[in-house]
Amino acid sequence: MMRFPFSNVLAFVALVAVSAPLFAQQTAKGRPEDTEVWEPVPKVVTPGATNGAPPSDAIVLFDGKNLDEWVSAQDKSPAKWTVADGVLTVNKTKGVGNIETKRTFKNYQLHIEWRIPENITGSGQARGNSGVFLASTGPGDDGYELQVLDSYNNKTYVNGQAGSIYKQAIPLVNANRKPGEWQTYDVVWTAPTFNDDGSVKTPAYVTVLFNGVLVQNHFELKGQTLYIGKPFYKKYDTAPIKLQAHGDKSEPISFRNIWVREIP
Ligand code: MG
Repeated sequence: MMRFPFSNVLAFVALVAVSAPLFAQQTAKGRPEDTEVWEPVPKVVTPGATNGAPPSDAIVLFDGKNLDEWVSAQDKSPAKWTVADGVLTVNKTKGVGNIETKRTFKNYQLHIEWRIPENITGSGQARGNSGVFLASTGPGDDGYELQVLDSYNNKTYVNGQAGSIYKQAIPLVNANRKPGEWQTYDVVWTAPTFNDDGSVKTPAYVTVLFNGVLVQNHFELKGQTLYIGKPFYKKYDTAPIKLQAHGDKSEPISFRNIWVREIP
């Protein structure tokens, strides 16, 4: 007959006492596989060769060659801004006005580069003023403007400087480069949604990186960006992206490398 030392029995009892609750806890939590998700597999997107270059699934809106993707915002006639040396420059001739995309968009990621002329003159809002309207909702509407301005060394109201959502959101920092240097905006736009009666279901949100630096972090818009008065929403579904020919007298600014990725 085998004899078990009493100490061995004690050790066994202790082991059961300690491991039983652990085992119970593990089974209550389930298996690691229970929380693994395998499908749908995210689509493969080849990044651009350099930062800012369009990825494989981008819609290129301006690649330096022509304005095929753009029309006059006033009357939808061919866009009459200047294309030269791979660069798009605002045409400030009276009557030419803003340009907008032929396509319309809802939620998207946008990349756009802009340059204030090195010899820029003027001050405040009259120094390299332009703008990227994230949704151009129709004639007579103000739309939703991400301000473009020389704010390198140019005092103005801070909710109207470069990187601001015009008159609604001050940029978190001033990330401007000097006039004459190319600058980038990378934008995530979540369009507002509306109920049938035109009331707001969900507001618009915007995130903006300015020269790679976060300046707007999921900002909730109060409505269209108005020059005068309180912002308000007006129902729309999809809208073009519009670039501003501002009426100030300073030298016209330029754009290049514009692309967008729709977010389903
Ligand atoms: Mg502007």
